[in-house]
Amino acid sequence: MRDVIVVGAGGGGPVVAKELAAKGLDVLLLEAGPRHADTTNEWTHYENDANNPLTGFLRFGPADRSKPAWYRETPQNSFLWQLSGVGGTTQHYLGNSPRAYPGSFAGYTGADFDAYDSQHPFPFSYSELVPYYEWVEATLPVQTAAMGTKEEVFFRGCENLGLPVQTSKTTTRNSFRPQENAILQPGGFAGRLAGHEEEPRLQYPQSTGCTFCGYCILGCKHPAEAPRNLVAKRSTDNSYVPMALTADRWADGGRPVELITDAFVTQVHTEQRNGKTTATGVTWRGGATGETHREDAKVVVLAAGCTENPRLWLNSGLPNPNDWVGRGYTDHYFDWVIATFDEYTGSSKGTGSSARSDWPGRGGVMNVGVPPALQSFTMTVSDSGIRGQYANGRGPTGTWDGPAGRLLGDELKDVMMHGIDRMFAMLIMTDDHVEEQNRATLSAMPADEHGPIAKVEMHQRKRSRRTVENREYLVRRAVEIARAAGATKVFRMDWAPIILHVQSSMRMGESERNSVLDPNGHSRWVDGLYIADNSALSNGASGANPTLTTQAVSTRTAEKIFTDRFGGDPWVRTEAPVVSTDGRISSRLAELGL
Ligand SMILES: Cc1cc2nc3c(=O)[nH]c(=O)nc-3n(C[C@H](O)[C@H](O)[C@H](O)COP(=O)(O)OP(=O)(O)OC[C@H]3O[C@@H](n4cnc5c(N)ncnc54)[C@H](O)[C@@H]3O)c2cc1C
Repeated sequence: MRDVIVVGAGGGGPVVAKELAAKGLDVLLLEAGPRHADTTNEWTHYENDANNPLTGFLRFGPADRSKPAWYRETPQNSFLWQLSGVGGTTQHYLGNSPRAYPGSFAGYTGADFDAYDSQHPFPFSYSELVPYYEWVEATLPVQTAAMGTKEEVFFRGCENLGLPVQTSKTTTRNSFRPQENAILQPGGFAGRLAGHEEEPRLQYPQSTGCTFCGYCILGCKHPAEAPRNLVAKRSTDNSYVPMALTADRWADGGRPVELITDAFVTQVHTEQRNGKTTATGVTWRGGATGETHREDAKVVVLAAGCTENPRLWLNSGLPNPNDWVGRGYTDHYFDWVIATFDEYTGSSKGTGSSARSDWPGRGGVMNVGVPPALQSFTMTVSDSGIRGQYANGRGPTGTWDGPAGRLLGDELKDVMMHGIDRMFAMLIMTDDHVEEQNRATLSAMPADEHGPIAKVEMHQRKRSRRTVENREYLVRRAVEIARAAGATKVFRMDWAPIILHVQSSMRMGESERNSVLDPNGHSRWVDGLYIADNSALSNGASGANPTLTTQAVSTRTAEKIFTDRFGGDPWVRTEAPVVSTDGRISSRLAELGL
């Protein structure tokens, strides 16, 4: 019998696996998708090859790309952006790692208390989470982002509006700042040379950290030839997973995690012990062979993400007495504001996003630069139809340059002629209200080889008044920033439902009435069953990019598991975190070819 089984190797699961392995527990990490070990040869910078949701090397599907992707029902006609594979959706992520605003935690007494979703706070205070934030920030590590031209444009707009610069990691006022991100800063020739990985000076060790290639979303493999733990973007495949697999090498008494990929967990087993429904283990199906396997453990941790955790829970017949399993599914009700400039903006260069402004109680506005196909994608899906032609009955959602919607005709040509590096894009991330009606449940459509599939109902077009007002507020701020930076034209997309930054579908909460987990991340109704990923978050992390908060909460949950289930001592407040890019560790990882 294992000590701990962790289901899912995305943003949250590897954190628990690494922390508990460092304490010497026997941990099995099961991941449904592939492990991309040879990224130099497996991954390209061709956007369709990478991002095609049906066939891309980054998709929600099995290791064998000739097999179909796994399906989810989304009745509201939307795109659900989640990935399988070691690293999970962090393979896509931009590494932005802000902390959630203090107002979304219990005990907040600021004057703007009413601005937050005060009915669904985290069940502990912000200051309680700070040591865990600091632990993750040291481990990944999180640093002030490397910046270039597009960030200068963004900062100019913010400064011209008179916004103050935020310099601490805790954000409590309307302000702008460089991102804190989990991307290693450029060293050597990195960031100084344009070129491809074939350019010898852009290879490790002549270059270290971010090479400014501009392809963060396609999975980071740079600088070429770097050991896995020194690859620039700290998606968990490049950070927590290599550390988990080598825990015996860098932690006194540590024990390496066993990772099994292509292993889709289909059942959580329970039995009655001392009058309690108790988790005993899991069954998974191997994708290549179709064989099923069962393992038992003292503790089971679900980290399969906001959609698959509820599916697995319901398919396993686990209790759901308050009907909150899968409910409260939040995203950040995104929108895009796009501007054209008569100057070079370098929008496609550098890290995906290195500058942001924060509006606590409302959400955030980030400058984002993506490669050309993704830039087009952001501009071709709108709830307001085609700008100037029809608006789908959405009413007056627009900017001073006219109505919202995708572009057509001469206007589209004009924007295209500007070219991607004289454009400028801002992503609106709304502090979304936890709403009971938004949920993941089981679909009535045909089951797949893993059982009934998930159905994600996001009533994107019927949001709470607070959420809608927050989004409109942030769009206005983004338009002002673009104008103040000198934009020639500004367009609002009124983006259609693209569901990413998903959170809180198995939320931890103060009240038994509207939560699945207690304040320790432990299931209220199944003993020995924990959840440690975005679904455990109590709310949408106040509109801040959620992964750092998930990783801090997962570190806290790992510590609770160690103390409450294995009689261990807490360590986050007493020990110094081992930094994942420490030369000692990375040379061992290099020896191991990790
Ligand atoms: C384009 C894009 C950019 C983003 N940028 C940022 C950013 O800059 N900053 C930020 O904070 N966040 C960002 N995010 C969000 C970030 O990716 C998520 O917050 C994070 O990955 C969530 O972690 P998770 O563990 O909840 O889920 P995931 O990362 O999705 O991991 C879940 C894992 O579980 C596996 N799994 C599912 N079901 C099973 C099963 N039954 N058995 C075994 N394994 C299973 C999946 O294959 C997957 O690997 C971005 C997301 C996208 C799409």
